[in-house]
Amino acid sequence: MPSLTFDNRFRHELPGDPEPRNFVRSVRGACWSDVLPTPVDAPRLLACSPEAAALLGLAADDLRAPDMVAVLAGNALLPGMQPWATCYGGHQFGHWAGQLGDGRAISLGEAMGAGGQRLELQLKGAGPTPYARRADGRAVLRSSLREFLCSEAMHHLGVPTTRALSLVASGETVLRDMFYDGRPAAEPGAIVCRVAPSFTRFGHFELLAARQDLALLERLVDFTIDRDFPALRDVPPARRRAAWFAEVCARTAVLMAHWLRVGFVHGVMNTDNMSILGLTIDYGPYGWIDDFDPQWTPNTTDLPGRRYCFARQPDVARWNLERLADALRPLFPDDDALTGGIAAYDAAWSSAARAVFAAKFGWRDWRSGDETLVGEAFDLLHAAEVDMTLFFRRLADVDLAAPTPETLASACYHPPQRHAAAFSDWLRRYALRTAQEHRPPAARREAMNRANPCYVPRNYLAQQAIEHAEAGDTTFLEALLDTLRHPYDEQPARARFAALRPEWARSRPGCSMLSCSS
Ligand code: AMP
Ligand code: MG
Repeated sequence: MPSLTFDNRFRHELPGDPEPRNFVRSVRGACWSDVLPTPVDAPRLLACSPEAAALLGLAADDLRAPDMVAVLAGNALLPGMQPWATCYGGHQFGHWAGQLGDGRAISLGEAMGAGGQRLELQLKGAGPTPYARRADGRAVLRSSLREFLCSEAMHHLGVPTTRALSLVASGETVLRDMFYDGRPAAEPGAIVCRVAPSFTRFGHFELLAARQDLALLERLVDFTIDRDFPALRDVPPARRRAAWFAEVCARTAVLMAHWLRVGFVHGVMNTDNMSILGLTIDYGPYGWIDDFDPQWTPNTTDLPGRRYCFARQPDVARWNLERLADALRPLFPDDDALTGGIAAYDAAWSSAARAVFAAKFGWRDWRSGDETLVGEAFDLLHAAEVDMTLFFRRLADVDLAAPTPETLASACYHPPQRHAAAFSDWLRRYALRTAQEHRPPAARREAMNRANPCYVPRNYLAQQAIEHAEAGDTTFLEALLDTLRHPYDEQPARARFAALRPEWARSRPGCSMLSCSS
């Protein structure tokens, strides 16, 4: 058995719920509740991440050992593990929802990583907790595979994210009404073991503030700063909380710039799904932009208002930070720290967005006038139905001395003729602007290809991985994940994973839209 050292500071330094039994309830005056994973019938390891294992000083083979698979399934514990579920609330789709909490996430322990960093191990789908409300605490294979795959893909893309160690089939079925049409079906269940330095969410603070438990709010803030933001230890105590809030704001801004850079849409940016560390967290009905559409949302529940569509994410993040600021208000003598934090968001967003878009378009810095060129490009991508990922890879190939829309043809879902004149005009101006960089073509191409991935876990690819895995074959998932380990490198043997979304996937469930039923 691999040996890991756990210190479980969240449990030891924050108050726990005195009730040891596992039933659904409102939990007050506590940040966590004791709960054990519910064992499953026949766990089978479907996939694991050697890179996430290495963080813990483990090899992939350590995870494949039957004793360890039992741990990753919730059927056994390692020495030092003391499972708990945490209490949080949140604003869902703009409305305060009260207590939510880890309904199907169970933290096993906080391990000390191979590099001395803290790595909390958390099972998702390992059975109900006191926060399960009316649900079963389980997760279906399709959603677990999507979380596993995307967590690791995001890491390789350089986007801050919680990680995924393993994907284990439970050998049991789970009942889900996938289409919300009143016809629930039995689906295979699975459990993901997630890894992050902290799973604390904005909602943890919001719930304590909503209940006016200011003493505990203050404790949680100071605990979070001490455990999760060690760099702030040097800030004088009187300014530390303000510096922390500004840091949370700045990290969130950087995360939004990354999401826009790679074409990721979270789909459920409720405040309970916002990480205090600025990590992508809680992969549900997320999606990736294929044909560029700023209004696209992958989440069927989000369709009426498109609150969480691609282009709105930076504004929603800011709104969510304002809700966090509301929660923290009682801890500050006046509003200066909070307005300062939101201003830090605005500043960090505008500099991160400029840096990201300059890099995507092949510019070393952002100049006046670039905004127009970038805005026009996105309008054109939308109007002409151009694939976002492929567009930027092809743009790197454009000959600045003789730009032609033909270079972009393979990124288009329709023959580009109808928009050829507009593309020619735009490319001419783009070439003039870009030539000012005086970069050799190969250097420009290489720099652009480092900002613009060639491979992303497109929705239809994840769906194919799911269909194969449900039929007992994980080779597609393995090949896809293997390709996504080097998302910026052209891999000729894996060209099929860089292709335009095929026509059959345009409106197929799982490939175009997803429900929250997971
Ligand atoms: P989400 O929007 O999926 O992040 O989840 C919102 C809330 O619902 C969280 O408190 C989750 O823990 C809870 N939840 C979602 N699915 C389940 C489930 N199958 N069992 C228990 N709780 C769940
Ligand atoms: Mg959630």
